Amino acid sequence: MTGLDVAVVGSGPAGLYTAEALIKQAAALDPPAEVRVDVLDRLPTPYGLVRYGVAPDHPSIKSIAEYLRKILENPQVRFLGGVHLGDDVTRADLLASYDAVVYATGAMRDRRLGVEGEDLPGSYAATGFVNWYCGHPDMDPGTFSLDAESVAVIGVGNVAVDVARILVRDPAELASTDVSQPVLDTLTASKVREVHVIGRRGPAQAKFTTKELRELGELAGVDIVVPAQEADLAAFDAAGEGERLAESDRRVRGNLAVISGWAARSPAGHARRLTVRFWLRPVKIEGAERVSGLTVERTRLDEQGRLTGTGELETISVQMVLRSVGYQSVPLAGVPFDERSCTVPNEAGRVLGPDGAPLPREYVSGWLKRGPTGVIGTNKSDAADTVRSLLADCCGGEGRDEAARAAAREHLTGELAARGVLPVSYADWLRVEQAEMSLAAALGRGARVKLASRAAIDAACRPPVA
Ligand code: NAP
Repeated sequence: MTGLDVAVVGSGPAGLYTAEALIKQAAALDPPAEVRVDVLDRLPTPYGLVRYGVAPDHPSIKSIAEYLRKILENPQVRFLGGVHLGDDVTRADLLASYDAVVYATGAMRDRRLGVEGEDLPGSYAATGFVNWYCGHPDMDPGTFSLDAESVAVIGVGNVAVDVARILVRDPAELASTDVSQPVLDTLTASKVREVHVIGRRGPAQAKFTTKELRELGELAGVDIVVPAQEADLAAFDAAGEGERLAESDRRVRGNLAVISGWAARSPAGHARRLTVRFWLRPVKIEGAERVSGLTVERTRLDEQGRLTGTGELETISVQMVLRSVGYQSVPLAGVPFDERSCTVPNEAGRVLGPDGAPLPREYVSGWLKRGPTGVIGTNKSDAADTVRSLLADCCGGEGRDEAARAAAREHLTGELAARGVLPVSYADWLRVEQAEMSLAAALGRGARVKLASRAAIDAACRPPVA
């Protein structure tokens, strides 16, 4: 039997599905290979976007963490939290300690709009807002005060749906979720009464998935408004693209049914309103000291299907703007990166060097490999694809004896200790979970409540010795 030690960088869905695929596929080889996987994460907490991206009011998606937990608890897997590739370890350290390295760090940077006023106070990336309400350790719980009455969310994908829903949902409905107490307090005190979700193309071109979209129209105490002309497929589309998309794509048909239903609704006079707009592109975020409005230009598709501005401008009065126009991966120190696609160049998960040839023993999976698309489950097949390449390349050799493997495996922990880095173990993380459950009980709120800061997480990981 061949033995293989692999480092996976990133403990989100992509990293943990990679660990799972490694164990399963290696065991199914003839002869089987025995794999040990170290999963590193720069954060002290595992699960990546499942913990810090999925909205607190989507418990069924969050329950994926239970599946991922079983992977982390596999005896062939070890969690090394709080270890940052770049600051704490180098790519060379990893290649010296393991037979192979898989990069699975996802996409954590926001994309920018490139319009005037984007950096005004009150203009934020939706990714920051998501991190805030998910209690990301990098985020100060006081970052958002929600004193705006009217908010624009730019972009018509599922992240835009998430942030719009969190902004207009009755905060009392979030009390039983894991949202941290300072975030819940801010949402409870929120002055937001109107949210405008703005798409630069039409309803047929919107990226929403229908289930997520439909949920917006079912929120208690919220009026949903869509201008009838903007819901009309033909009004701004001289190329007939929307009609063709509707014919060929079931998701588009589902979205259109939801949107036209909303366009036909009359507002019931609820306290909060969600307006969904189409064929408007942002041209300027207005304001002197802080955001006071958003100027948009009416767009249309010309006969050739090109998106063009019509010159017709509209300024929407808002005091906060959230750009929700997609995530981007960030380069990892020493690892090839394509600045155009913001991914690691690869072929079936094999990292490609500057000459286009695969770099030995280096692999990539998840959003870092293919860009920020698909649902969480998409990462499972993606990881399986990368692992097939890895095992085809790395198995079948002579292999090292157990002593050599153990020495190489401990090389990394030795290096880390020499640098004063003490990785967060799975047992340490379980103490954080325990603290979150105790906090929920103390507050009389649901099954768990997230600790509100990095300091609180660090203290729970390693309680002071009495
Ligand atoms: P997305 O689906 O790619 O949507 C990005 C939106 O931003 C699109 O509407 C895009 O319009 C728009 N946009 C891009 N550049 C723009 C610009 N300069 N001006 C105006 N609009 C611009 O990205 P996302 O919403 O961040 O979601 C990322 C991934 O996570 C997706 O696969 C999504 O399904 C997934 N996700 C899933 C869930 C869930 O299942 N519940 C929740 C959250 C996220 P164009 O199409 O015109 O470019």
